[in-house]
Amino acid sequence: MAPFRAVAVSGATALVWFKRDLRVRDHAPLAEAMRFDNAIGLVVIEPQWLSSPECDPRHVSFLLDCVAGLQRDLASRGLPLLVRTGTMPQVLQTLRQEFPFAHLFSHEETGSAWSYTRDLAVAQWCRSHGVDWTEFPQTGVVRRLASRAGWAARWAQRMNAPEAPAALAFRAPPGLAQTVVPTLFELGLPALSAPLPQGGEQAAWATLNSFLDGRGRDYRRALSSPLTAAEGCSRLSAHLAFGTISMRCVHQATEARIAAGSDPRLAYALRGFASRLRWHCHFMQKLEDEPAIEWRNLARSVDGLRPGDGVHASPVNLAHLQAWCEGRTGYPMVDACMRQLRTTGWLNFRMRAMLVSFAAYHLWLHWREPGLFLARQFLDFEPGIHWSQMQMQSGTTGINTLRIYSPAKQALDHDPLGLYIRQWVPEIGTAAYPAPIVDERAAVAAAKAALYGLRQTRAAHTEADAIQRKHGSRKSGLPPGTRPRSRSGEAAPAGQGQLF
Ligand SMILES: Cc1cc2nc3c(=O)[nH]c(=O)nc-3n(C[C@H](O)[C@H](O)[C@H](O)COP(=O)(O)OP(=O)(O)OC[C@H]3O[C@@H](n4cnc5c(N)ncnc54)[C@H](O)[C@@H]3O)c2cc1C
Repeated sequence: MAPFRAVAVSGATALVWFKRDLRVRDHAPLAEAMRFDNAIGLVVIEPQWLSSPECDPRHVSFLLDCVAGLQRDLASRGLPLLVRTGTMPQVLQTLRQEFPFAHLFSHEETGSAWSYTRDLAVAQWCRSHGVDWTEFPQTGVVRRLASRAGWAARWAQRMNAPEAPAALAFRAPPGLAQTVVPTLFELGLPALSAPLPQGGEQAAWATLNSFLDGRGRDYRRALSSPLTAAEGCSRLSAHLAFGTISMRCVHQATEARIAAGSDPRLAYALRGFASRLRWHCHFMQKLEDEPAIEWRNLARSVDGLRPGDGVHASPVNLAHLQAWCEGRTGYPMVDACMRQLRTTGWLNFRMRAMLVSFAAYHLWLHWREPGLFLARQFLDFEPGIHWSQMQMQSGTTGINTLRIYSPAKQALDHDPLGLYIRQWVPEIGTAAYPAPIVDERAAVAAAKAALYGLRQTRAAHTEADAIQRKHGSRKSGLPPGTRPRSRSGEAAPAGQGQLF
């Protein structure tokens, strides 16, 4: 982490670039900028983001909501937050003509390929204009990580470190006009058809506090069923993705509540929640270490397995893909989940996994297109978690247990009275509801045969060992299915498919 400067830097202007860190509290770049004579905040709405296949107007709308709150909070501290549209180098160039700045501060980002390319362009622009760009970590993700050994201890060290100094007061350069946050309409985007949860730092803290104050008491039981998860899970994911609250603050507030020990049932629930915060960074680290998992199989031994991976000869079954995206597969639990997700932008973990398992095993679709579609639906889209999970649930990581979810069993276990299904698929039982688009038994049998066949090869075992060394967790307590295989590859529980 870049050190905080001990002394004020006079006669200079600092530019704080806000990206996935739309908050004031525990914000290292802001704390650093406080030491400068003048400071400006900047949010850039980039055309590469708007046109990327993962971006949906719901993400933009949530961002604008967060930015409006942030602009107010920063203005009360004397820091103007400029909102500009354009590519980063263009925006920096224009801004530098208006306000010569020599220092740029931001958080590190583990994003999709477009943001990585953008960061390279920003670094190049800074070098050629004599601007000093300092990036600070804000999660447990470690840049240029040499080995996963000791990663969990490093995560704990970062999360237990003190928050960044409070950002209290700034001076804006003279003559700077505050910009107005644009609307979706002004950005040329369609209005949303359903409301989103509130964005911004205040909403993030209210969500966390309500969870820690008691909403989370049933967390472990509530998180699997779509009937109870929306209320019983923390619902912090979009806030963490947009950085309206820091991972460190969530971690420390949770640990403090566990340590208080006043409510053993809540403490038990919160311990389950706390370990998921580590998973968040564990999965992001995979994308940081291997950016290509965004578009190609982690285990190259499964290349060519499914149509659509650039190697397989057959075309993607577009009718199946479309039915899945529309929630019209004829499998009621799958369709209900997809429709909830499309409407609300959120779905609990188990049901996300079931949707992907259905696409991957029942429909034999490659994960990239379904993954892009889901990325647009998930308000909390976080590339590192998303692509790691897409591959894990599709059986292409080479190291994780194959989990094939049975939609009927999920319905029986988590919606035994059919309440959830009837809410989202009201036409069930009528002629308007489609017949199943695939024969489950035959499709799953074929999927298992194809995947087991590949996993048994010597090449797959050798590759799995290498993947485990690079990406696998070194510690129990990390996500199920990510425990080490034996070096011989004979890791029975991890290599065998399970029907959930
Ligand atoms: C195919 C697939 C794609 C996913 N894509 C995303 C994504 O883009 N963004 C995202 O935040 N989560 C993703 N998840 C993980 C998980 O489903 C969500 O984090 C969770 O449902 C969000 O709701 P919550 O905040 O109430 O979670 P809680 O259960 O309250 O968990 C708290 C936080 O822990 C983290 N977390 C929880 N479960 C996981 C997990 N399995 N892996 C990694 N981190 C986890 C998240 O940051 C979450 O906000 C995905 C899961 C699957 C199966």
